[in-house]
Amino acid sequence: MIQYKLLTPGPLTTTDTVKKEMMADHCTWDDDYKQITQKIRKELLKLAHVSEEEYTAVLMQGSGSFGVESVLTSVIGEDEKLLIVANGAYGERMADIAEHAKMKYSIYKEEYDKIPSAEKVEEMLEADPAITHVAMVHSETTSGILNDITAVAKVVKAAGKTMIVDAMSSFGGMEIPVGELGIDFIVSSANKCIQGVPGFSFIICNREKLMESKGKARSLALDLYDQWKTMEKDGKWRFTSPTHTVLAFAKALEELEMEGGIPARAKRYADNNHLLIQKMEEMGIHTYIGAEHQGPIITAFYYPEHHKFSFQEMYAYIKERGYAIYPGKVTDADTFRIGNIGEIYEEDILKLCGIFKEFFASIEV
Ligand SMILES: *Cc1c(COP(=O)(O)O)cnc(C)c1O
Repeated sequence: MIQYKLLTPGPLTTTDTVKKEMMADHCTWDDDYKQITQKIRKELLKLAHVSEEEYTAVLMQGSGSFGVESVLTSVIGEDEKLLIVANGAYGERMADIAEHAKMKYSIYKEEYDKIPSAEKVEEMLEADPAITHVAMVHSETTSGILNDITAVAKVVKAAGKTMIVDAMSSFGGMEIPVGELGIDFIVSSANKCIQGVPGFSFIICNREKLMESKGKARSLALDLYDQWKTMEKDGKWRFTSPTHTVLAFAKALEELEMEGGIPARAKRYADNNHLLIQKMEEMGIHTYIGAEHQGPIITAFYYPEHHKFSFQEMYAYIKERGYAIYPGKVTDADTFRIGNIGEIYEEDILKLCGIFKEFFASIEV
């Protein structure tokens, strides 16, 4: 059995009770199962602070990228155009999706350590009236930066365009008033802040916008409208559903509520994140993102300046002592990352920082 905790942004460390739910082989066509799916869909709308009249939740097989690809390739028609706002690998993945689907798109690339500017988005929308949709990432897991979706959604809405948000690593771990912000499609997945296991993504959709997308999909399996149409009838998934993952997710939602809902979870994540950064700074390890825009989910730290430093060695040292950290992903600096989402508590952060201290002492940092 694996004896370490994950400090990675999904999959992440889940509770034993969530894992135990997967010990049952559930059939997919009976009412029991369909009710579980329907309950999950309702609960997700509550977490997003939206009404069932205005919004609907669709569950989609596959990892988070399948959810993003499903939205982009299903709701943007042949004669429509997407503006992608990117300041990290996940924003750039959206451009990759658009490329593969041969969609019309333009991209506003920002530096990885800066948040995209709403004014710039506004200017781009004014300069190019062909743009119909705008897509951006909320918590850019590449660096840990938290983008200002409120400011961007405001200009997108004022221009009368459709707003798509990849909130993969933030939904459930931070309050996002989806309706109030006017977000039309927001995507997350089972194995991030809801603290389930990998296997499906979910999309909270503005009903009207979803209806408008009928017939636009470029993919059969990822057709968002068609998936919704089937699921909306009685909770049946269109193709084989990831049953074990769904059972685990239903349990994870219950446990989120027991913890005190998103406010309590958000506080735990933010407190752990602050403690981690404070302890690392005390050891002379600095964050890649400045305090103003550092998000509460994952943190990128610069390598210590030391000739003996090897990430692989540090990784192995820490893993042997009970924690798996994450390599860096930003392209312009040497960094490593530590996620603090999942079943991670203050004692874990303190223990982890103790291990770092020992490791740095051993290489004389
Ligand atoms: C995890 C994540 C994704 C999805 O990645 P998958 O590997 O497909 O699950 C997309 N965007 C962001 C911001 C993420 O953190």
